[in-house]
Amino acid sequence: MRYELMLPHQIRKAIEENWPVALPLGVLEYHGEHMAVGMDTLAVIKTLELFEKERDIVILPPFYYGAASYAVAPPEGSGSVQVGGPVLAPFAEELFYGLLRIGFRNIHAIIHHQTENFVAGMPTDLAFKTAGRQAIFRFLEKERGEGWWGSDKMVDYYAGHAQGENVFNWVQVHPLMPAAMNGKYPFDHAGIGETSLMLALCPEAVDAGRFTDNTSWYTKSAPEASAELGKKGVAMILDHLRATLRG
Ligand SMILES: [Zn+2]
Repeated sequence: MRYELMLPHQIRKAIEENWPVALPLGVLEYHGEHMAVGMDTLAVIKTLELFEKERDIVILPPFYYGAASYAVAPPEGSGSVQVGGPVLAPFAEELFYGLLRIGFRNIHAIIHHQTENFVAGMPTDLAFKTAGRQAIFRFLEKERGEGWWGSDKMVDYYAGHAQGENVFNWVQVHPLMPAAMNGKYPFDHAGIGETSLMLALCPEAVDAGRFTDNTSWYTKSAPEASAELGKKGVAMILDHLRATLRG
């Protein structure tokens, strides 16, 4: 369900049944002359909408204003919007803290932007990861008081941990395309991989008539894109979401 359309009784049910709460996270960035600037975020939104047809999940309103950077193109006339990681982190902490206050304990930001470096991290995902940790610590201290971890109530902490219980899993950040897709689907920027994803998920974000206006190295493979290839990528992403977004 889309969060903005939920009624309070539906929100209470989602909390009670521990539905995954997914935040589509991305940027607005130049993706060549042939593709829409919202590509990264649209890819997350559209795959989550497909996933929602098979699972009970809450989809939060998307956040498009990540740190695009000007690495690909300067912003003038290109459309890239850059908001730096240092200002994203306090925003994200408030957002996650607010979601914890509502009662959600199964919160996931899904990001597609610079995520080929996900393990080491890049500004947007690092900001949201840090924010998630900060929000959890702050929330636990408010709810349980200082010394919560050291109290006798936590005597089973490590045993619970071994069984997969972990309060620090209440907020997680995941790449849309996991490392397991490496070598199976082209990871690129505005090339055959991303353009195919858009053709499969959101064809109005691609204008094939503009391929010839591209002059950059990273868009060279874009004309080879197809919805068929994109659908293969979407199937792999849906497998990843099935494993990641569990009740
Ligand atoms: Zn992209």
